[in-house]
Amino acid sequence: MNPSNPPLSAVSRVGIGYDVHRLERGRRFVLGGIEIEADRGPVGHSDGDALAHALCDALLGAAGLGDIGTHFPDNDPRWKGVSSLLFLERTAAMLAERGLRIAWIDAVVIVERPKLGPRFPAMRAALAGSLGITPELINLKAKTNEGLGELGRGEAIAAQVVAALTA
Ligand code: MG
Repeated sequence: MNPSNPPLSAVSRVGIGYDVHRLERGRRFVLGGIEIEADRGPVGHSDGDALAHALCDALLGAAGLGDIGTHFPDNDPRWKGVSSLLFLERTAAMLAERGLRIAWIDAVVIVERPKLGPRFPAMRAALAGSLGITPELINLKAKTNEGLGELGRGEAIAAQVVAALTA
């Protein structure tokens, strides 16, 4: 480390995460660790939980630990069909090993339907439970894509997450 840099333990660390999944008929719609009634669901090696994946990347980024594909590759049969909450549990354990605590999480989900707001309390509880934090540290927001592009046609779901860690 450059001696003029502040010690890592003294700085708040922020990470960003992004994910997108195609939506297809006949798939379960899993988001934020819960299943929601919908006419389409995400295609993915795991359960296709775009919010959990973006959150995982934000946490790994803040910790300087690379990305979700490095730790949980989508060609590894161990992760086929698993709940993405498992990735969050393992990521939380990696943070704890390094003495890093989650200070704040803010997220945006971009999807045309279903309407997510009523399910946010359940999603926050599921995500917080897998991370070992209180739901009050997680803020969730939903946007449509105003009918534009693949997201706007309901053919995909995307999520963006920012996470802050303290040592
Ligand atoms: Mg993904």
